[in-house]
Amino acid sequence: MKIVLLFFSACCLFHPVVRAQSAADSISIRNLANNILTEGKAYSNLKLLCKDAPARLSGSPNAAKAVELARKMLQDAGADTVYLQPCMVPHWVRGNAEEADLVIAGGKRVSLNVCALGNSMGTGPGGISAPVIEVRSFGELDQLGRKVIKGKIVFFNYPMKQTLINTFEAYGDAVPYRVLGPSRAAKYGAVGIILRSLSTSLNDFPHTGITRYDTTLPKIPALAVSTNDAEKLSNYLRLKMVSRLFMKDNCQMLGDVPSCNVIGELRGTEHPDEIITVGGHLDSWDLAEGAQDDGAGVVQSIEVIRALKALGIKPHRTIRAVCFMNEENGARGGAAYADSAASDGNQYLFALESDNGGFTPRGFSLQCGPAQFQEITAWRTLFEPYGVYLWRRGGAGTDVEPLARVKSVVGELLPDSQRYFDFHHAGNDLFDAVNRRELLLGAINMTALIYLVSTYGI
Ligand SMILES: [Zn+2]
Repeated sequence: MKIVLLFFSACCLFHPVVRAQSAADSISIRNLANNILTEGKAYSNLKLLCKDAPARLSGSPNAAKAVELARKMLQDAGADTVYLQPCMVPHWVRGNAEEADLVIAGGKRVSLNVCALGNSMGTGPGGISAPVIEVRSFGELDQLGRKVIKGKIVFFNYPMKQTLINTFEAYGDAVPYRVLGPSRAAKYGAVGIILRSLSTSLNDFPHTGITRYDTTLPKIPALAVSTNDAEKLSNYLRLKMVSRLFMKDNCQMLGDVPSCNVIGELRGTEHPDEIITVGGHLDSWDLAEGAQDDGAGVVQSIEVIRALKALGIKPHRTIRAVCFMNEENGARGGAAYADSAASDGNQYLFALESDNGGFTPRGFSLQCGPAQFQEITAWRTLFEPYGVYLWRRGGAGTDVEPLARVKSVVGELLPDSQRYFDFHHAGNDLFDAVNRRELLLGAINMTALIYLVSTYGI
């Protein structure tokens, strides 16, 4: 025994950053993986969530239904305690009258596949009919200025960059057009906008997502058009065949309503006040079932609790699976969780989110200092059998990122990104879009990381 101890301390002296990890960890992770692959509930839970509570937009009846489903799933997973954490959420309703028609030469109308952007204003029952102008960038918009833009509908036709291999970078590059576009156009007197959907492929689905108005400017209605119809509209404009665009929707922003995060906890045996968080967001856009975004992350997080409990592993530190509310159009759930963390006297060590789809996992992104990064990545060989090779510093899920202010390390699962923006915020984000084994592999790697942090700390 003494010899082993001496040897161990010698190793520590020479390799101070090598974390305690052993063959036993590798076996524990193998056992967790086997259990998730053969007895896991992530896939059946995803089906239940998608089919019983699709379109879980904050404040909607289905969001409330999803809260009850998540609560039951966490109880069935074996969490020691399951509770709801209240937060107020925005309540936006889409209505049911979105349409956009091009009026082309001879008075003929060509209809486009459109949907309203989230949190957008409605056009009023009569709709809007105005000339449409295509703009390729904010720079071009500024150049055209009020003289040209006033009284028109601005068509932002900014495609996601095909040359960026990580599609989230392409999303980050294009998303300002969705979030800021309406107010940027309103500044020059535009009466509405129509946005080329943020999708990496050409398809017929309009993709929604949040837009934010600058309250000092008029709030103008905003639609997204499918990428195929963006091409069509651009062609008609190039051929000078369009006389006007008619757009109509009856969206409405109502007052805030009460909602909540759903939390399930496995209490730590040695350091119960050291908290490790793993989560996804329970709300989704209202056009589909929210399977990739983010039913996948929710059921993977619940699976972490279920698998540890199923194998009788008692974590040293407290593990919480959190189903966050309102990531999509306000991120109020993440804010409420961080507010509570700032004042509850616990120490928040680590928080991981899965909100990049249920695709094959490739890595983890961690927002932390260099020493902590080195400590965590010393575990990397334990993940290689399960497909995770990439460890990136910087970047975390929207809901867990606010925990950085209580000094928690925050991060996110990085699945393969190539197909995500085929489904993101669109009508085809359905249960069938998620592959069972890809989803489970994500859950395995999340469970392994949470297990290691709960055992050794950071
Ligand atoms: Zn999401």
